[in-house]
Amino acid sequence: MTTSSPGVVETDLGRKRRARRIGRALTEAHPDAHCELDHGNALELAVATILSAQCTDKKVNEVTPKLFARYPGAADYAGADRAELEELIRPTGFYRNKTNSLIRLGQALVERYDGEVPGRLEDLVTLPGMGRKTANVILGNAFGVPGITVDTHFQRLVHRWGLTEETDPVKIEHAIGALYDKRDWTMLSHRVIFHGRRVCHARKPACGACTLTRLCPSYGAGPTEPAAAAKLLKGPRARELAVAAGVDPELVPVQAVAAEAP
Ligand code: SF4
Repeated sequence: MTTSSPGVVETDLGRKRRARRIGRALTEAHPDAHCELDHGNALELAVATILSAQCTDKKVNEVTPKLFARYPGAADYAGADRAELEELIRPTGFYRNKTNSLIRLGQALVERYDGEVPGRLEDLVTLPGMGRKTANVILGNAFGVPGITVDTHFQRLVHRWGLTEETDPVKIEHAIGALYDKRDWTMLSHRVIFHGRRVCHARKPACGACTLTRLCPSYGAGPTEPAAAAKLLKGPRARELAVAAGVDPELVPVQAVAAEAP
C-alpha cells in the first residue's frame, strides 16, 4: 500500500491502475519521445551517454558528428591521442575524466569483446564509464532489449506521482518495472524523461498546464493557474502540450517553444 494523496490510502492494484493511466496519458502527450542523444550504433550511443554526464544532450549532439567521424570504432578510442580527443570533447565539460573513460572503454571493448559493444546488462556494467543507467539506455535503444532508465527526471517524477517511495535507483527500476509491461519499459522511460524536461520541472512544475493533473498527487507543487503554468512549458511542442491540457496555447510564450528542454 502507498499513499496517493494526503489522507487517502491507495491499494497496490489501485496504484498499478493509476500507473497505467499515467503511462497512457504520457503516450498521448509525448508522441515524439525518443532517445535525445544522436547515434547510429551501440558504440556511438555508449560514447554519447558518457559525454552526457553533467551536460545537455543538445551540447553532446553538437560535438558527436565530428567525434564519430574521427573515431568510428572501439580500436580508434583505444589508440586515441589524448590531447586530440580532449580537445574534441572539451565543450561537454569534465573532458579529462571523459577522455579517460572513452580511451578505457575502447581498450576494454577491444580486449574483451572483439571491439563490439556487448548486448547484455551484466557485461555492459563492467565497462569503464558505464553505470546501470547507461547500460539500460544502450540495451533499450541499440539492442531493443526493454530497459528502464532511472535518471534524475525519472526519479523525481515517479516520486511526485507516488508510484514508489524507493530512493535507490536499482530499487526504483524494479518497483516501476513491476507496474508496466516489460515491452513498454524503454518508451515509458523516454516519455517520463520528456515530461520531466518539458512539463514537470524540478523547481517549478507546470501543474496548471499538465495533462496528468487528475492522476498526480503532487498537483499544486507548481503554479496551477493556466497563464503562469503555460509559461513554464518548454520545447517545440509546448503549444500542443498546452492544448492537450485544456490551456489556451496563446498563453505559451515564443521563448518557451524555442527553449531547449533541460
Ligand atoms: S501535476 Fe504537476 S507535479 Fe504532477 S506531473 Fe503534472 S506538473 Fe508534475
